[in-house]
Amino acid sequence: MKKDTLHLRGRLLEKYDNKLDKNGISGKRLAERLDALSRIGRTESNGSDRPGFSHEEKAAKELIMQWMKEAGLTARMDGAGNVFGRLAGKNGDAPAILSGSHVDSVPNGGHFDGPLGVLAALEVAESWKETVYQPEKPFEVVIFTDEEGSRFQEGLSGSEAMMGKADLEAKKKRQDANGLFFEEVLQDVGLSLDSYVSAKRNLNEIDSFVEVHIEQGKRLEKEGLSCGIVTGIAGPHWLKFTFEGQAGHAGNTPMDDRQDALVAASEFIFTLNTIPRQVNESAVATVGKLFVEPNGVNVIPGKVTLYVDVRDIQEETRKEVVARILRLSEELSQKHSVQVQYEDLLITPPVPISEERQDQMKKALEANNIRPYSLPSGAGHDSQVVGSELPVAMLFVQSKDGISHNPAEWSSLDDCVQAVHVLKSYVESLQS
Ligand SMILES: [Zn+2]
Repeated sequence: MKKDTLHLRGRLLEKYDNKLDKNGISGKRLAERLDALSRIGRTESNGSDRPGFSHEEKAAKELIMQWMKEAGLTARMDGAGNVFGRLAGKNGDAPAILSGSHVDSVPNGGHFDGPLGVLAALEVAESWKETVYQPEKPFEVVIFTDEEGSRFQEGLSGSEAMMGKADLEAKKKRQDANGLFFEEVLQDVGLSLDSYVSAKRNLNEIDSFVEVHIEQGKRLEKEGLSCGIVTGIAGPHWLKFTFEGQAGHAGNTPMDDRQDALVAASEFIFTLNTIPRQVNESAVATVGKLFVEPNGVNVIPGKVTLYVDVRDIQEETRKEVVARILRLSEELSQKHSVQVQYEDLLITPPVPISEERQDQMKKALEANNIRPYSLPSGAGHDSQVVGSELPVAMLFVQSKDGISHNPAEWSSLDDCVQAVHVLKSYVESLQS
């Protein structure tokens, strides 16, 4: 028998401040549900393994659909596997406010990335049931399928299907690690390519989307805050650079007669690191992958191929960072007598969150006596897909030590419940 060493429920409730249980919101219910989900696809090291379109992801969704029904919501799964738990509004014809996240995980991931956002939205519906409150606008608790993309290395499949933004031709060609095509993986969980396409919704039915998510960084922890306002979701711009010099004998080539591609690339990486902060506070740039050729101890490097990941929440500033990186590569090409070439591999538009929505979130924080603090999202989320056409907002919850995509991922129950209170205030503020 597998030893139950996780005790997520117990660990969460151990330090919980019961005074946060008010207005129909229950920390115990939230802890129990986080615990129940953590048991689906649990790994040997107490992590979470629920890839998109897996039986584990489906089981997690089915369990939540049961809770949705108990909370008085009408639950349905669409052709992409997205789940919508709908609460009728007093004004039945009004577009619905959607809130939720995802329940799939990366391999051996944590128990908060995704599930917290879904359960926070469900907890808002639970609180209304307990306090006998019916919102003016319909409210839908959403579970988006395959956010992480651990199956096909792309993700956001569910939100893209709902928005009608999926590139089906590209998806059809993808194979997972077991050689299964997208279509076969869909069939395995009772879906099909046709049903996937049918998941596109009429966007007039949707007022806006709000997502609670763990921060996956350390900013809120440093500020001592339970949650904070997301200013935008940074889109990545990936570039591939090749530095080509001259391979040569490390012993017989004098220092002033070299075209060392790695020396040029090293200065490039070192200087590139200083560029984002010269342009914008939220901009970042990273070289995370590099190949040296011929890669011999006694050979002057003749060629270096490296990859740059640039992100920011505004397109203009991200463009400026990229422009400065390109200028740097030209300068270093001259300085070190090497050829530099580059190509764009991926350009995903950043999604800024409107001032208006950020301001409403600020008021929701203040209503709960939490100092408003704003921060960008460096990682991608379903909100970026939905936010390309509809108003979105995001609320980040403090992550312990910034750890995520790891079994050690943790957020205190106090912080999680505070976020539910803020989400509730925010959604209620959108009713008029
Ligand atoms: Zn996530």
